[in-house]
Amino acid sequence: MADRETFDGVMVLGAGLAGLSAALALAPRRALVLTPLPLLHGCSSAWAQGGMAAALSPDDDAERHAADTIAAGAGLVDPAMALLLTREGPDAVRWLASLGAPFDREADGAFAQSLEAAHSRARVARVKGDQAGKAIMQAVTGAVQASPSIEVRTGRALALLQDREGRVRGALVEQDGRRVEITAAAVILATGGLGGLYAVTTNPAAVRGEGLAMAARAGARIADPEFVQFHPTAIDLTDFGGADPAPLATEALRGEGARLIGADGRPFMDRHHPMAELAPRDVVARAIHRQIAEGKGAFLDARQAVGEHFPEEFPGVFAACRAAGLDPRRVPIPVAPAAHYHMGGVWTDAHARTSLDGLYAVGECASTGVHGANRLASNSLLEAAVFGLRAGHAARAEADPKNVPGLPSEPPAELPPESLPALRRAMSLNAGVERTAAGLERLLGEIDALAGRHGEALPLTAARLVAQAALAREESRGGHWRLDFPETAAEARRTFTGLTPTGLTPTGLTPTGQTPTGSTPAIREAAE
Ligand SMILES: Cc1cc2nc3c(=O)[nH]c(=O)nc-3n(C[C@H](O)[C@H](O)[C@H](O)COP(=O)(O)OP(=O)(O)OC[C@H]3O[C@@H](n4cnc5c(N)ncnc54)[C@H](O)[C@@H]3O)c2cc1C
Repeated sequence: MADRETFDGVMVLGAGLAGLSAALALAPRRALVLTPLPLLHGCSSAWAQGGMAAALSPDDDAERHAADTIAAGAGLVDPAMALLLTREGPDAVRWLASLGAPFDREADGAFAQSLEAAHSRARVARVKGDQAGKAIMQAVTGAVQASPSIEVRTGRALALLQDREGRVRGALVEQDGRRVEITAAAVILATGGLGGLYAVTTNPAAVRGEGLAMAARAGARIADPEFVQFHPTAIDLTDFGGADPAPLATEALRGEGARLIGADGRPFMDRHHPMAELAPRDVVARAIHRQIAEGKGAFLDARQAVGEHFPEEFPGVFAACRAAGLDPRRVPIPVAPAAHYHMGGVWTDAHARTSLDGLYAVGECASTGVHGANRLASNSLLEAAVFGLRAGHAARAEADPKNVPGLPSEPPAELPPESLPALRRAMSLNAGVERTAAGLERLLGEIDALAGRHGEALPLTAARLVAQAALAREESRGGHWRLDFPETAAEARRTFTGLTPTGLTPTGLTPTGQTPTGSTPAIREAAE
């Protein structure tokens, strides 16, 4: 039996940039922020390197930024949402600066801006080269700690609590070794992406799709789960004892002119795209994947473009290389693609509301429609801040819980830690940079086998959503590349899916608009 507690305010699950922005925007409403690890730990936000995209310079504007976002998203970006994001971008950067985020400045005080892949302008606000995430999160964490309306607790959410009408009323939480059912005015899900489900990833281990799975189990609409972005240039330390998660050689290095070369020392990106090293991420990731699969090797050569300035300009990357005994001033950096960002997630509207009353979703666990099939570099910190603020403002109006009766909570099964590597390997192998029907079916078989042994744990539900939707999408688009369906379909369709209330194992697809019924669990897909 779990203990019970009522919180007069809003629960925020997760303490990355999205969750903390929401908590700050909720003030003066009370916020209870739940984080499995102390603040600044276990979130992708603090690891972000490149920075935050926003149209801040005089030769740029929100329309141009939205157009680049739409082009990168390969037909699936919601244009209205993209414009909303890019219009609110500059204010979000200024808000973070006002909290103390020390963005790099030009001599005249203007924000310094980097050029990153698939941006038509230099528009990424950065901090000391590659320190953006850490510096932004330190500023936001300081503001959270100084806020009298925010309580931060160490704990992990296991399930959402719902009343008979399906309204989300709180969460079942594990804290201090005990389980507590906490009822609250509303819940803001901010649990990040799902890179931790893959064997090679840049994400912290705690980020493994648990919020997505909790929302799906509660019946929330899920959008585009098959779209995972693979960062083309994780530093491949396989020959240096390995590193999990894989450190990242930021995109900004390529923005500075670093070249991708094979073991023969020759650049290879010109063969794949007119923008070469600055081509969209999926193109670069596949090119590197092919180089490695064909035994030709892939390296990022920054000797000329950055050279002796490496330690000052990219201290984070420099430290990761040095820790493995590599000196990027003297030798090219070995690179490989790694699971990096989840474009799909819990479907939301412009105010971060999900399809379930009382449940909001923000940041990487959400699917607002701004990323489509492929995220534009540095748009995710931006999305976390913009929609985090929007969620906080919207959730202020939620009424406090009064006399909420005992809500049934079903703790999910737990996947034993020793079984996680099998799932991660199967995900990287079969739902990675290149996918096939046979591989995805093998993956679903592996997920079923693990569920049979241990029960339907949250990571299995999240992995299942990715695999099932990837199998159903018989085309290649953005981050989703099917070797057996290499063409892009003429009609661009988003995926909208969900688990039925009667089961946890999506096994079939129903056509647009039909609500799955009966005892057979199903996954829904609809055209937008
Ligand atoms: C190495 C790296 C570099 C990146 N560089 C950039 C960049 O330069 N620019 C950019 O825009 N984006 C970048 N990204 C992506 C960006 O950092 C993330 O998309 C963004 O920070 C997501 O923010 P978030 O708040 O949604 O999630 P996160 O920051 O990942 O936070 C999620 C939080 O939820 C918690 N959590 C997870 N499960 C539970 C649970 N069951 N219960 C309670 N809490 C839970 C986590 O511990 C964490 O506190 C990068 C990502 C990585 C990994």
